[in-house]
Amino acid sequence: MDARGNILYLVVPCYNEEDGLEHAAGVMAEKLERLMRAEKISQESRILLVDDGSRDNTWRIISGLCGQDSLFCGIRFSRNYGHQSAILAGMMKARLHADMAVTIDADLQQDIEALDQFITCYQEGAEIVYGIRNNRDTDGWFKRMTATCFYRLLELLGCHIIPNHADYRLLSRAALDALAEYGEVNLFLRGLIPAMGFPSDVVYFDVKKREAGRSKYTLGKMLSLAADGITSMSIRPIRLITVLGFLVSLFSLGMIIKCLTDWVLGNNLQGYTTTLLVSLSLGGLTLFSLGIVGEYVGKIYLETKSRPRYIVDAVIWKDAASGPGKEHG
Ligand code: UDP
Ligand code: MG
Repeated sequence: MDARGNILYLVVPCYNEEDGLEHAAGVMAEKLERLMRAEKISQESRILLVDDGSRDNTWRIISGLCGQDSLFCGIRFSRNYGHQSAILAGMMKARLHADMAVTIDADLQQDIEALDQFITCYQEGAEIVYGIRNNRDTDGWFKRMTATCFYRLLELLGCHIIPNHADYRLLSRAALDALAEYGEVNLFLRGLIPAMGFPSDVVYFDVKKREAGRSKYTLGKMLSLAADGITSMSIRPIRLITVLGFLVSLFSLGMIIKCLTDWVLGNNLQGYTTTLLVSLSLGGLTLFSLGIVGEYVGKIYLETKSRPRYIVDAVIWKDAASGPGKEHG
């Protein structure tokens, strides 16, 4: 097979990463240079740092790196839009220049040495290569437990995601172009990318401890990612509500018949506890169901407004720096 185009863009989302970014960028640059020397990737390859609206010195560090070394380029969001938006923006920017883009976290938890295997899979014809973690030892029990529950729940709801795959992955230009066709605001990449099809492959890697700074994924962000994941990939929860409603109606019909018969027979002794339990549980169930439907209505609301998914307010591209208010996607 002819070798495929080999311009690689490494897309790195950064949110308040001032503690470890300089070191991480150095490690990444060194790796890319080694790959260039081995002629595995083109000299035109770049590291694209995406500042997701950090409130610390992250952007200053990115600007410095871009000034020192033309290997780096950077974009900055107008505010914090979240990890998923940051990698999307990076990939959409990279798509215009790269043959392949690899997304990787800024904290060096994902083993950068696995890049060789990603590139080999790509050269062998894969359009998408998923990085899969070998271990979860670096996560606390809470994160491990919530992650397992989340994967199980998604699977149960009919959304196929790759277990133990976060966002360390390679997309070829063809896959990036396909991804660009999805205009939805509720973009859940881990569900959507496998749903695109394409020949794909997997690479296993070891997860390391975060080298500097703290995890930027708060519990709130994790829960919102989970809710977005479920509601953007599956309408099964609404169907379940319909089934539940049907079952409760059947039960009610039975109860009505029983009550009427008791009344006719004159032995309709009323139970306080039963009444209370039934009305409380039905009240809870109704509100919960309404909440689920509400989630979807909210999603429709966001989609119909079709607001930009992120706003880029500064770009440092190759040598040319550009000012604010340029792009959105
Ligand atoms: N991140 C981001 N925006 C956010 C939260 C996180 O761009 O709102 C980035 C963060 O800088 C890091 C990556 O996403 O590069 C993964 O975050 P983190 O390492 O904190 O998550 P964890 O590994 O704990 O799941
Ligand atoms: Mg991390």
